[in-house]
Amino acid sequence: MITFCRLSLAGLMLSATFTVANAETRGELQAACFPLAALAMRPDEKMPVKLGHPQALKVPRWQSSAEAPLNILRGSIRRVDLPKGQKLIALTFDLCEQWSEVAGYDGAIVDYLRANKIKATFFGGGKWISTHGERAQQLMSDDLFEMGTHGWAHRNVRGISGADLTRELMTPSAAYQLQRQVLGANQCAAGHEQALQSIPRQPSLYRFPFGACNSAALDAVAANGLLAIQWDVSTGDPAPNQSARAIADAMIRQTRPGSIILAHANGRGFHTADALPLAIPALRAKGFQFVTVTELLAAGKPVVTDTCYDERPGDSDKYDAFFAPRTRFPASAPGALPTATQLRSTAQP
Ligand SMILES: [Zn+2]
Repeated sequence: MITFCRLSLAGLMLSATFTVANAETRGELQAACFPLAALAMRPDEKMPVKLGHPQALKVPRWQSSAEAPLNILRGSIRRVDLPKGQKLIALTFDLCEQWSEVAGYDGAIVDYLRANKIKATFFGGGKWISTHGERAQQLMSDDLFEMGTHGWAHRNVRGISGADLTRELMTPSAAYQLQRQVLGANQCAAGHEQALQSIPRQPSLYRFPFGACNSAALDAVAANGLLAIQWDVSTGDPAPNQSARAIADAMIRQTRPGSIILAHANGRGFHTADALPLAIPALRAKGFQFVTVTELLAAGKPVVTDTCYDERPGDSDKYDAFFAPRTRFPASAPGALPTATQLRSTAQP
C-alpha cells in the first residue's frame, strides 16, 4: 500500500531540532500568560453544545505564502517505520467542530497529559481554534504539545473541490496564526519573544475529518505544504458506548513502534479521559515512549497510502453522506470572533 514517499527530511529534522532547542522556554511563556487555574479543566467545557443553526462566525482569511513549502510528501501518513529497537509512538487528539455546534474541550485529558509529562499532538478544527482561542493558545504554548489542523468546520473533503477545498484546508491555518498573534500581542508575552518564536508560525500537519480524502484533496494538502497525518491505531472513542476499558485495550493491543494513535479531546471521546490512566502506564511498561508527530516523522520513514481510511481501505466512504450542501462554506460574518463561552450562552438546550 506504500505508494509514494518524497519527503523533505531535512526540513523535518530542522523543525524537530528547533523545537527541542527551545523546549524549556515555551513553558515560561505559558506560565506567564496562564495561571494554573486558567490551565485546569472546567467540567462545563467538556460536552459539545448544538446551536440549532449554522454559527455566523467571522472567518479568518488565509494568505498563501510566497515561500516554498517545507514538506513535500503526497499521501496519507498512517504510521512511521522506525530503526529496529526504537519504540516511539505518537498520541493524537482531534478537536473537531462543525458549523451548528460549539464542540467541547476535554480538559481532563490535557491535565492528565501535563501531570504525567506525556507528549501529544492536537489537530484543531479552524472553527474550534476560533471559538476556543484561549485553549488553543494554551496548547500551542505547551512544551509537551504540537498543533496541527483538522478542516474548518469538519467538512468531508470528498464533496468539495477547487478554491472551496483550498479554503477548507487552509483557513484553519489562518485561525491558528490569528491565535498565535493574539498570544504574542498580549502583555504577558512581553520578554518571552524567544519562546513565542519557538511556536511554529503555521501548522505543518493536517488531519482529514472523517478519515476521508480523495486524490484531489491529497494533491491540495501537499501543494500547500501540509502533511496528511492519519493513523494506524483507532481507539473508537467517538462511540458513546465504547468504554474506557475498551479504548485502553484498543490502544494497548494495536500499538506498535511507530504507531499514530487517534483519539478525541473535543468531548466526543466520551470515555477517553478515563482510558488514558489505564492505557498509558501499560504502554510505558512495554517500553513505548510518547513523542509528537513531527518527532516521530523525523525518527524514521513514514508509511504512506494513497487513500484515507479508519482501519481498512474504503471504510470511511460511508461518511460520503456528510458532504451535503448544508455544510457549504458560508460568507464570513462581520464582527469579532465570539468565544466558546459566549456561544454556549446562546445555544439551544
Ligand atoms: Zn474530526
